[in-house]
Amino acid sequence: MKVLKFGGTSVGSVENMTNVKNIINDGDKKIVVLSAMSGTTNSLVEIASQIKYSNPERALEDINMLHEKYILVIDELLHDKPLNSLTKSYISERFNFLIESTYKTFLSVIENQILAQGELMSTFMFNSFLKQEGINSTLLPALDFMRIDENKEPSIEYIKDNLSAVLNEVEVAEIYITQGFICLDATNEISNLQRGGSDYTATIIGAAIMAEEVQIWTDIDGMHNNDPRFVEGTKPISDLSFDEAAELAYFGAKILHPQTVLPVREDGIPVRLKNTMDPAAKGTSITDNHFETGIKAIAAKDNITAIKIKSGRMLQAHGFLKKVFEIFEIYETSIDMITTSEVAVSLTIDDDRNLDKIVSELETFATIEVDQNQSIICLVGHSIVNHEGTHRLFKILKDVKVRMISYGGSKNNISLLVDTKNKIPTLQKLNSYLFELVTL
Ligand code: ADP
Ligand code: ASP
Ligand code: MG
Repeated sequence: MKVLKFGGTSVGSVENMTNVKNIINDGDKKIVVLSAMSGTTNSLVEIASQIKYSNPERALEDINMLHEKYILVIDELLHDKPLNSLTKSYISERFNFLIESTYKTFLSVIENQILAQGELMSTFMFNSFLKQEGINSTLLPALDFMRIDENKEPSIEYIKDNLSAVLNEVEVAEIYITQGFICLDATNEISNLQRGGSDYTATIIGAAIMAEEVQIWTDIDGMHNNDPRFVEGTKPISDLSFDEAAELAYFGAKILHPQTVLPVREDGIPVRLKNTMDPAAKGTSITDNHFETGIKAIAAKDNITAIKIKSGRMLQAHGFLKKVFEIFEIYETSIDMITTSEVAVSLTIDDDRNLDKIVSELETFATIEVDQNQSIICLVGHSIVNHEGTHRLFKILKDVKVRMISYGGSKNNISLLVDTKNKIPTLQKLNSYLFELVTL
């Protein structure tokens, strides 16, 4: 069986939902994972924050506006009267839940319940639409099988057992529709797989059922060689290895949730990225295969903090780095990049919640400098460290101030740290030197 995931834009309008219907209606049995309609999760985040900051009137206004939008979509999507009114009454229940939340004391569990409503609504609406079109589909409630543990990792055995139980319980269908993003946590409260998490849902399900393939359908024709939001003329990449895709996703390629490839990498389940608006486009195929073609793609990750740790005691001393790393370990903060010199080590973190505590512990034995608002620019390709074309990357050094470079940590990744205000020009320059082969 295949698992197909459709993102927010793909279910964001009646026209696109019709495209999705045409893509999935090919007679093959499949599990379809849906995101919330585009914009909905952002609105729910905003509603939760209004409630959190004691502004229930604004929250209610936003809830009513969103409800009106859904009524319009349902009227356009569902001309079948009974299905139209069944769906409206389900959607009203979801909005009543949101209205009730505005009276409650704000807790993170309520925030997660609020955020879960988008996927609950999109899947219900889409399932009604398929029924109206005479397609044999049924809903698989994600909260009946999708769960994360204390470390926020998917509880894969639990998911396997419960998903197969749910598949046995529900009506046999050709198309099973489930919610992306949402899950239970280790205490059985509603939680989620972080923003963009529907991709992750799809590969977790793919691994749980040993799917033939996982397809991620979105609003672009596959993984591009640079970030299309900031660089013109980017091109889709036809093939990526799991390692390359994992690096790009982790280092900011928004098309994939950072953890998307992890569940399927070990079993070699292929992942294909496809465009809902242009299904004939080739897209990107992510498999075990490696192709040595030099730097394939560039991605960037923001909100990085660089910490420079300088100490005379580092000189010829062993155990210094151990002492440094232990502090990050205590505060459960992972390190992304690291460079060292004789008396200093610079490293980066993307989670600065415990920054003050980390810095004050480091200050007991070193001088610390902190730079916030940094971006990691990551260049990816199989064995690029040894590739003849890679030197072109250094052409940018003439005009861009690079704070750190990590080269050789892995053969497939070179990372640069730049001030975020220089990120876009750096991405653009790298694009021309590496992919358009501009000469100086
Ligand atoms: P969905 O809602 O379908 O999950 P996303 O918005 O999460 O879609 O991801 C698709 C978007 O990712 C694209 O529209 C594009 O703007 C952005 N993006 C960022 N980097 C890349 C990249 N390297 N290749 C393709 N898309 C990218
Ligand atoms: N709806 C969620 C979000 O916007 C999950 C997803 O779209 O993948 O983050
Ligand atoms: Mg996404």
